[in-house]
Amino acid sequence: MMKQYETVIGLEVHVELATKTKIFCGCSTEFGGAPNTHTCPVCTGMPGSLPVLNKKVVEFALKAGLAANCQIHQYCKFDRKNYFYPDNPQNYQISQLYLPICHDGWVEIETSAGKKKIRIHEMHMEEDAGKLIHDEWEDCSLVDYNRSGVPLIEIVSEPDMRSSEEVIAYLEKLRCMMQYLGVSDCKLQEGSMRADVNLSVREVGAEQFGTRTEMKNLNSFKAIARAIEGERERQIELIEEGKAVTQETRRWDDNKEYSYAMRSKEDAKDYRYFPDPDLPPIHISDAWIEKIKAEQPELREAKQARYQEEYGLPAYDAGILTESRHLAGLFEETAAIYGNAKKTANWFMGEVL
Ligand code: ADP
Ligand code: MG
Ligand code: ZN
Repeated sequence: MMKQYETVIGLEVHVELATKTKIFCGCSTEFGGAPNTHTCPVCTGMPGSLPVLNKKVVEFALKAGLAANCQIHQYCKFDRKNYFYPDNPQNYQISQLYLPICHDGWVEIETSAGKKKIRIHEMHMEEDAGKLIHDEWEDCSLVDYNRSGVPLIEIVSEPDMRSSEEVIAYLEKLRCMMQYLGVSDCKLQEGSMRADVNLSVREVGAEQFGTRTEMKNLNSFKAIARAIEGERERQIELIEEGKAVTQETRRWDDNKEYSYAMRSKEDAKDYRYFPDPDLPPIHISDAWIEKIKAEQPELREAKQARYQEEYGLPAYDAGILTESRHLAGLFEETAAIYGNAKKTANWFMGEVL
């Protein structure tokens, strides 16, 4: 009999925060713009420049973490992750290794198999890198630092997902949550939401996880689903041939529908992390957390429940009307003016959409 395999997946999701200015300087975070126009000595890593933390970044990270049921490290700090690449002008990225601002949370996803909790290991704050543009005609590479220093949160899940369906449901959940909170627009095509997929396979019933690979360069939900199927098959083939899966980082080529080894997996020690001496530790007061909790908007699940209860709408309608906070807001205002919620819902789901 053929062996049965189970796919095990954990995600590292980068979300660009929708602050007006960068994490450690006053430059604009706006997408696009002529190359190197949203830059200053801080975000281009000039000697002698010093970072100053943007408070809004901490607030947005707290909003995201609290919405995902995380614990907060009320005393946290930044660490330097050292690596050498031209998109990283300081030669280190300011990130959080030892004390991530948010940890041990969870979100609930829903698939055809029902509801499931996906645990979140941590959410930490860090800065984005610049962008390299490889000019094939001129045979050279150019660098644009407009994105350098744009604030990110990296959301690291536990290896709790078992299929591409669960992965897509998880990503949609995060995207919807971030959009409701107003902390990110989460546009995959503009790179304001990016997912790295860690995947291993094991025989059904096995207790130990298999060796995982990490796939990068996934910029649509469809590419993510294809990459998961492709990598699952590649790993099963290796195991069936009696070979070992190597722990490494791979690049998914969505045109060829195949992933290529990029580099062997690096460890924390390869990055020589150490606390950033230019930034003081952050203390997050109880009062600040309470204030943010009190100001959290009603999220999608709560709205869906309320629409059924308060307006007597079917679950189906409540689902559609709450897909975005903007649409839900328009619906609520219209229903209040018109008086009949079900008729308003029908009009929204038909003509308006
Ligand atoms: P690192 O810090 O080296 O990147 P982590 O252990 O923090 O590694 O895990 C990174 C991501 O990989 C997490 O999302 C985690 O859930 C996932 N992961 C860890 N082990 C496995 C595994 N055996 N199979 C699939 N995913 C895994
Ligand atoms: Mg990692
Ligand atoms: Zn700057």
